[in-house]
Amino acid sequence: MTDLVFQRCINPDCRATTSVEDTTFRCGICGSLRDVAYDWDRLPLPRSLRDFEAKWSQRTDPLCFSGVWRFRELLPFAPSEMILTIGEGQTILQRADAVAAFVGLKAGQLFLQYEGMNPSGSFKDNGMTAAFSHARMVGARRAACASTGNTSASLAVFCSATNLMKAIIFIGSGKISYGKLAQGLDHGALTVQLAGDFDDAMQRVQQVAKQLGIYLVNSINPFRLEGQKTVMYRVLEALRWEPPDWIVVPGGNLGNVSAFGKAFLELADLGLLKKLPRLAVINAAGANTFYQLYEQFGLRWNEGRPDQTLISRYYGGLDAEGMRASTIASAIEINRPVNLTKALRALDRCGGVVREASDQEILDAKAKVGAGGLGCEPASAASVAGAKKLRQEGIIAADERVVCILTGHQLKDPTATVAYHSGDAKTFEDVLASRGVRRANFANRPIQVSNDLEQIIQAIEVYS
Ligand SMILES: *Cc1c(COP(=O)(O)O)cnc(C)c1O
Ligand SMILES: [Zn+2]
Repeated sequence: MTDLVFQRCINPDCRATTSVEDTTFRCGICGSLRDVAYDWDRLPLPRSLRDFEAKWSQRTDPLCFSGVWRFRELLPFAPSEMILTIGEGQTILQRADAVAAFVGLKAGQLFLQYEGMNPSGSFKDNGMTAAFSHARMVGARRAACASTGNTSASLAVFCSATNLMKAIIFIGSGKISYGKLAQGLDHGALTVQLAGDFDDAMQRVQQVAKQLGIYLVNSINPFRLEGQKTVMYRVLEALRWEPPDWIVVPGGNLGNVSAFGKAFLELADLGLLKKLPRLAVINAAGANTFYQLYEQFGLRWNEGRPDQTLISRYYGGLDAEGMRASTIASAIEINRPVNLTKALRALDRCGGVVREASDQEILDAKAKVGAGGLGCEPASAASVAGAKKLRQEGIIAADERVVCILTGHQLKDPTATVAYHSGDAKTFEDVLASRGVRRANFANRPIQVSNDLEQIIQAIEVYS
């Protein structure tokens, strides 16, 4: 009899399984990524997704309050007493008509899933509560990650809030926004600033974790992705279980899109969801590996056998040219997405597309999101910029229902926002023009006045 929960290699020619306690996260035989897998036939499941609404009346139970764990029947890998929750996932799906007009959608058809409301200010908390609970199950004392800032902030929050593990975070030097760096420092994480970028830090942290036996919480960790599945459950819930036509998400390490795909495929296989939404992943143009591989070179899941030669040739080319990821959207400034194959699998079954958005397009979209009432960081706005592009191409129709994921909070990266809006020439030059941003098309400039009542009053009358 197999275990109820186990881990399984995603390579169909291998499918090697290992126990739920294994923390190596890559197949020991073929090196592929692993899934958390369940023997659903022997697990209790809801009869319909609507059954989850019963949890709303049990909100004094932390596991029913959590936006992740109230769906725990769909990620049943941890015994209840091992679960660590800090109230993550209290996020909202907001109808955004002003942004819909910008994107080119009919009123009522665009929704923003605001993951910036999580305790550490990004969607990463959905995955961290799951990985952290798994770390506790296996008795880990130290947990590490490489990060462009949000994974490290989330890990630091969970470690400090629970006092169960020491956080060790690897960041590329000069590659992290102040908001995110501040969180890691304030929450007491051991912060390793590496002379290199995220891709370097990612490589090193895997070596270090292996050598020192430290628990790794990057999204190569399949338990992270189990937690991130719940973002989609909450979107469905907010739409009263009526799936939208499109989910649009920024792509960095491609953990989110992989998790979203897994969520939908499982629901479909379990007979809990009739129609699957289509998935659109948006890269920043300065970190567009996935866009190039998928849209330009035609890389596909190919029943679990993606063209490995194409992938290695692509990365060889990046190395040969000394290409480094570069975008104002630092959370997706990644050239070697660790979840590449899982993302291909997700797009395969969900009619996926990939697009790229320039820093100009990202910041203009971000200003529109802000003016529409929700504050996000640059990477998040890639979803809105990408939706606009897909609408212009006619891939998304004007009357389709679209959900863009706002992955992180506005205050994560105030530097980019102020540089865009302030009109200060030097800041604009330093932060934005150097990245090819030519104009702040939707800038909300502060007005300069002297300390003179009459002038102040006059200025306000003119501008308001
Ligand atoms: C981590 C992150 C992303 C990228 O998500 P992946 O799952 O790595 O593709 C996008 N936006 C924000 C704000 C993030 O923190
Ligand atoms: Zn394998």
